[in-house]
Amino acid sequence: MKHNFGAGPGILPHEVLKQAAEAVIDLNGIGLSILEISHRSSEFEAVLNEAVSLVKELFNVPEGYSVLFLQGGASTQFAMVPYNLLPTDGKAAYVESGVWANKALKEAKYFGNVEVIATAKEANFKHIPKDFTVPADAAYLHLTSNNTIYGTQLHEFPKSPVPVICDMSSDIFSREINVADFGVIYAGAQKNMGPAGTTLVIIKDDILGKVDRKIPAMFNYQTQIEGGSMYNTPPCFAIYVSMLTLRWLKAKGGVAAIAKENDAKAKALYEEIDRNPLFTGVCVPEDRSKMNVCFVPVNPEHEKPFLKLAEEKGIVGIKGHRSAGGFRASIYNALPITSVHVLIEAMQEFAEKNKA
Ligand SMILES: *Cc1c(COP(=O)(O)O)cnc(C)c1O
Repeated sequence: MKHNFGAGPGILPHEVLKQAAEAVIDLNGIGLSILEISHRSSEFEAVLNEAVSLVKELFNVPEGYSVLFLQGGASTQFAMVPYNLLPTDGKAAYVESGVWANKALKEAKYFGNVEVIATAKEANFKHIPKDFTVPADAAYLHLTSNNTIYGTQLHEFPKSPVPVICDMSSDIFSREINVADFGVIYAGAQKNMGPAGTTLVIIKDDILGKVDRKIPAMFNYQTQIEGGSMYNTPPCFAIYVSMLTLRWLKAKGGVAAIAKENDAKAKALYEEIDRNPLFTGVCVPEDRSKMNVCFVPVNPEHEKPFLKLAEEKGIVGIKGHRSAGGFRASIYNALPITSVHVLIEAMQEFAEKNKA
């Protein structure tokens, strides 16, 4: 088995993969595959209902919120959010904390005015921009909780006088949050909660209905809520595997328990990065992500040989994003701490071999 540090689609628990493989042949012994049953069948209805209740349970979702499993990835949410929430003559506040935030705000410009209230672009997104005030007349504030490419994370959410919309694609279910603080939470499943193909949306029902424009059915949150994520054929298999992953998370003790493990994994890896003379961290320490750990070799010529050594140890997916370079170790929920230890040992072995 490989040690999968890939940024996305990311690692899934091995037992989830085994169950998913079985269900491809025969779902719960019904003699049919999960891939060939009607989305209106009682079997699939049970899958979707369980997925929704697991989200509600794991995140303590309060009354007044809907949980949706949609398609089109987080990138479709970049447009759906302003389509449904930004009046043509209104404005929305965006914090530009990375490339994904930038893509989100570009989409919003199709629908209304966008105010970028803070950016870390000049600093190449090595920190989270924090010095801003949220305009009280904005329709909403858009945040990205974890910047997958740069390895920064919002450890504390800012107070906001307007509804907070948050892209949590790469740290959903990695730590406890208070859903009541948000108007919309969205996340492409493929980083930390399932396979590619479905996007989780948790939406406060009463933030809808405030724009006048006509919205096509598939892009309309109201239609999706009324259809219970089944206005059209939902991505049945992606929802099924997400449900299995959420079940796995619950069995592990839920979000509080996984957050502890995530803390331990991140602490061990950052400690090695700070201790090892051959590597150095990329981001401002206080904003370091507990999901995507970005680091570079002090000597750029060490990049290739370290990747080679890592490969020999079964470590995959640590090459940094093409726009960031260096290394990125994604240590999502399903990655066991033993894999982190293998990476740390490889770094130590590399330092020993390349001693000055
Ligand atoms: C990967 C990612 C996206 C894009 O997700 P898609 O599902 O591919 O559209 C958006 N935001 C963040 C923070 C991401 O990590």
